[in-house]
Amino acid sequence: RRIITTENLEEDIKIENNLRPQLLTDYIGQEKAKETLKIYIEAAKERGESLDHVLFYGPPGLGKTTLAGIIANEMDVNMKITSGPAIEKPGEMAAILNNLQEGDVLFVDEIHRLNRQVEEVLYPAMEDYAIDIMIGKGATARSIRLDLPKFTLVGATTRAGMLTAPLRDRFGVVNRLEFYTVDELKTIILRSAQVLDVGIDEKGAYALARRSRGTPRLANRLLKRVRDFAQVKYDGYITEEVANYALDLLDVDKEGLDQTDRGLLLTVIDKFQGGPVGLDTLAAAVGEDAGTIEDVYEPYLLKNGFIQRTPRGRVVTEAAYRHLGISRENNEK
Ligand code: ADP
Repeated sequence: RRIITTENLEEDIKIENNLRPQLLTDYIGQEKAKETLKIYIEAAKERGESLDHVLFYGPPGLGKTTLAGIIANEMDVNMKITSGPAIEKPGEMAAILNNLQEGDVLFVDEIHRLNRQVEEVLYPAMEDYAIDIMIGKGATARSIRLDLPKFTLVGATTRAGMLTAPLRDRFGVVNRLEFYTVDELKTIILRSAQVLDVGIDEKGAYALARRSRGTPRLANRLLKRVRDFAQVKYDGYITEEVANYALDLLDVDKEGLDQTDRGLLLTVIDKFQGGPVGLDTLAAAVGEDAGTIEDVYEPYLLKNGFIQRTPRGRVVTEAAYRHLGISRENNEK
């Protein structure tokens, strides 16, 4: 398993829950999203109403689930959690909605993966707080409308582009989450270290932050791994030296790239002369799912300027050649 995967691993779930900030003021970064939410939350509370439906989108591990929990917490309501692929039948969605209490947050992760029939249950639920249920069969079948408590749907997706228009339009608040800066990640790491009772200095936190590819989930995971190194090889305290030593061993480089990232870039360079190469062709060449490349690997490589998307496909940039220590001229000959 690649250590720097930004997807949620089993081993992380417990620790992640401990590290999740509970209040908007403890949530670091994402100033734009925070500012918007703050206003909406205050307004809804003042009116004594439920919060408008909220959609978060962006790469995994940037804090979408965390924000959903914060919303519930700030609104002083409960949160129910489910995900797009977990709900197969319209009846299952209807049952979940019907069991909500007034004001509750329903968090639907990977909301772009809801199937069409299930999604259609959400339309009246989001718009009118009601569901339509069919009773009877054949000629005697009729639909009755069931009122629901006023709830807040919080949807999360790595791919806003895959949401249908009718669903997207029913969200009153849409927030795109961005990669975190190194300084923000450093703050998150120092906070997590405190929660986990790990000794770390500023430079150690900075070294970790630099290699966390803009992602809090990864920052927390690297902190945990490096703590183990520090414990076994040093006196348990994380300094810059310890962090760099451990991350080198874990094969996470100075730009936060691991073998898979470098393999992806090298494939474009070696097999496709640096590109352009289409996503599906590239996916086949590296033996990865095209969707995973697009959602998980590519956003950070794009953000860091190691690849570019062109109409004809992906192209590796000069910066990537430099980072990998490969001469472009030699390669193109
Ligand atoms: P997503 O739902 O986008 O995949 P999560 O909300 O599960 O991401 O966040 C992953 C982990 O990163 C959480 O355990 C949380 O502790 C941490 N985290 C995310 N965003 C922040 C933040 N802004 N400040 C502090 N920690 C954060």
